[in-house]
Amino acid sequence: MKLALVGVGAAGTRIVDRIVQAERTTGRVVTGGNVLVYDTAGDAFTEATAIPSDRRVLLGDAHPAVVRPDDAGQDKETDAAADPATRFGVGGDPDAGATVAQADLPEIRRALDSVDETAAAATMVVVGLGGGTGSGVGSVVLDELRSAHESPVYALGVLPAATEPDERALTAARGVRTIVPLADAVFPVDNEAWRRSDRVSDDYARINDRIATRMLALFGAGEGSTGAEMRVDPADVQRTLAVGGLAAVGRQTMTVDAAGGGWLARLWRLLGVGTEPSAVDAGKIKTLVRRALNSELTVPCSVASADRVLLLLSGPPSTISRKGFETGRYLLEEETGTVEVLAGDESRPGATAVTATVVLANVTDVPPVERLQARAIDRLEATTDEPDSGTRAASAGGESAGGESTAEFEFSAGAEDA
Ligand code: GDP
Repeated sequence: MKLALVGVGAAGTRIVDRIVQAERTTGRVVTGGNVLVYDTAGDAFTEATAIPSDRRVLLGDAHPAVVRPDDAGQDKETDAAADPATRFGVGGDPDAGATVAQADLPEIRRALDSVDETAAAATMVVVGLGGGTGSGVGSVVLDELRSAHESPVYALGVLPAATEPDERALTAARGVRTIVPLADAVFPVDNEAWRRSDRVSDDYARINDRIATRMLALFGAGEGSTGAEMRVDPADVQRTLAVGGLAAVGRQTMTVDAAGGGWLARLWRLLGVGTEPSAVDAGKIKTLVRRALNSELTVPCSVASADRVLLLLSGPPSTISRKGFETGRYLLEEETGTVEVLAGDESRPGATAVTATVVLANVTDVPPVERLQARAIDRLEATTDEPDSGTRAASAGGESAGGESTAEFEFSAGAEDA
């Protein structure tokens, strides 16, 4: 299915850029350039080379809550070692982000007009939930899209890693509570689960790559595929996500070789004499699907808590037999105890691997989100004890937190603003 993408903040911008780049390298067309990004800091725009400049919108131009690299003055020196996302823009403050978004609503709406709803089956807002722009501006953008579009509006929200400051966890926890009721479905992406180093920022390129691969596999499924055993219907993706709530995507790949895998088969292929790989054993498909569930989910969650499941198998023609396909589907029915397992396969001539992509929709047992909520509550309790707990909002330009945002934050009436 075709998807329009709207990135908000640095993470949103980088991830949308990565998805557009991946479309170009893989030939899988999902957005077809129907993308838009917003930021208050703007430094991520310089990295977003795949997004045309008329699709990048800088907000808060003259707003006192927004700090730009050029006017950071003395702070620039003292903050040089700080987390880039809290140095510039709205300084990591989601309330300041929401205030800036309210002030710039006409600009936000004008830019949203460039997102072509008729060319997409759905729109997805992409944000880093720990960010002031991602969470604060992102909630307002999501709310705007929801009122303007009749088609579904999804959200992809990155959860901060455990090594990130508690303040980020609080912002993200509030962000989750704000966007879940606004979006038709939310894909949390757990930076912690995919982190490989002590500084998660060192892992961003790799994590963003993985997000792009999964989103293209999911939303690009069925676009232009022929000759499959049980052809993927792009509407099945929408149907799976229609149950709302949090969704997780798993993916696992297994390389296949031409029949027999020997030098003769490879020679025939080089000579253009078709020796397509033979059908993959049903037991191997089962292992592939199980691995997709166990190790590579966008957010760790209990598979059994899913409400609806979608299995997509893709690979060279003839590798996916009906038996293999049914075995994978049966495994999912067993693991989830779910009545509704939608499934389809996609023929990818010339591919050298079979891939299983699994979507678990409306999962309710999601430990990283629970941990985030617990961390946020601890942080709020600690903040209540701090004598100067109100200074952060004041230092971001004296605006009162929350403002007129229709996207009210769940914890916004808490100690932080007291
Ligand atoms: P914002 O611009 O104020 O929204 O803030 P950022 O987008 O820079 O950061 C918000 C959060 O998103 C951080 O706390 C990280 O958890 C996450 N993040 C930032 N950049 C990236 C990125 O490129 N990839 C991923 N996966 N996460 C990111």
